[in-house]
Amino acid sequence: MQKKVTILGGGESGAGAAILAKSKGFEVFLSDKGQLHQKYADILNSENIPFEQGQHSEERILESDLVVKSPGIPDKVPLIVALKEKGIPVISEIEFASRYTDAKLIAITGSNGKTTTTLLTYHLLKTAGLNVGLAGNIGDSFAWAVAEKHFDYYVLEISSFQLDNIVDFHPYISLLLNITPDHLDRYGYDFQNYVNSKFNIIRNQTAADHFIYYKESEVITKELDKRNPAVGTVQISLENVLESGSYLENGQLISNINGRAFGQAFSELPIKGPHNAINALAAISVAQLLGIDAEKISEGLKSFTNAPHRLEQVEVIDDVTYINDSKATNVDSVFYALGSFDKPVILIAGGVDKGNDYSQIDELVKEKVKGLIVLGKDPAKLENYFSGKVPQIYATEDVQDAVNKGREWGVPGDIVLLSPACASFDLFKNYEDRGDQFKAAVRNLIQ
Ligand code: ADP
Repeated sequence: MQKKVTILGGGESGAGAAILAKSKGFEVFLSDKGQLHQKYADILNSENIPFEQGQHSEERILESDLVVKSPGIPDKVPLIVALKEKGIPVISEIEFASRYTDAKLIAITGSNGKTTTTLLTYHLLKTAGLNVGLAGNIGDSFAWAVAEKHFDYYVLEISSFQLDNIVDFHPYISLLLNITPDHLDRYGYDFQNYVNSKFNIIRNQTAADHFIYYKESEVITKELDKRNPAVGTVQISLENVLESGSYLENGQLISNINGRAFGQAFSELPIKGPHNAINALAAISVAQLLGIDAEKISEGLKSFTNAPHRLEQVEVIDDVTYINDSKATNVDSVFYALGSFDKPVILIAGGVDKGNDYSQIDELVKEKVKGLIVLGKDPAKLENYFSGKVPQIYATEDVQDAVNKGREWGVPGDIVLLSPACASFDLFKNYEDRGDQFKAAVRNLIQ
């Protein structure tokens, strides 16, 4: 008899899981409490996959042999609780997809830097001529890619939500960039739960696999000491010279792994700032572990273009540089953004506060920020916190007004930086929309 699989959630990962399940001979049903994007509804229809929207038919779902859950659905919702009580396995889409590929998996996670590092790693492997796919939280969902393509390697961007429901997911190389408080609402406001979720990435790794991590993250090293896993480890560091591992020394990205040596000036890369040195060292470590030639690594590093909205230079107008870092939706990423410049900064921040603690950027703001422009519906928290700490503060709900104020305050050599530390939903559709509107407002200055 055909096994019944129900897919919960009909976005990119749910639709992908449905397509993969169908191709593997399951009897598939997809259920989404909200409305499906037309594109996914059309695909499901053309594949004859039954689905429902606006509800979960619990009785039918509780008849499943297996449930694949989209990352957006928390484990504590009653339907998931009921499924677990009945002993029906509930897995994530990456778990499901990983059961149907024998490709070597490179899985990248962290609170910040995932997308940049995933894209750069993919680019290095591709430049070296490997048959490599890019999937996960970026581009195609993993399940979709597995259903339609064949690759020898996958570079996967993996969020903590995706790691929550894995069973056998087994990366050959896993990479953990950092762990700082984020998404705590999903983890019972207990940071350790979030740490555990991130560490799921090494759960099935053995001594034949590799775990790359950032040595200066105390959270990571402490947890690692506690667990003492069997997996082979590779460290990356900005502060220490490592006998084995990858590190920054006098502006050089250096890597010594398995007797392979690599070196390159960080200034030759198109990505800037200390956080990007970490991301580059991480990607270089993967390439080194896979035995890619130093020349190819170097070629890939120099020809990389990052995704937009991450410290993206928009324009230089009258010697003032406008930077779009709309993806900086938490305080830690603003910390790194400010650390990337040694010029006076006019900072545009604000939006939907996620319980932010600004003390982490206190010193940097005092040192570097000559004016704060709060862009958001509720500016009070930022205004109050930074009042007296920066020379001038201005609040607005209009992105053009914010940019105009930046122009008014800016003098040659300054940076106008959109790095919000907050989510965008008060004034924008998403962070991309916020970044696009910012870029358009900057370009209006020169028309
Ligand atoms: P993610 O996919 O994890 O959100 P991104 O690569 O999209 O990460 O970067 C998001 C923001 O986080 C960037 O705008 C940058 O300011 C910051 N960032 C990038 N890499 C790091 C890092 N290694 N450590 C801390 N912050 C980072």
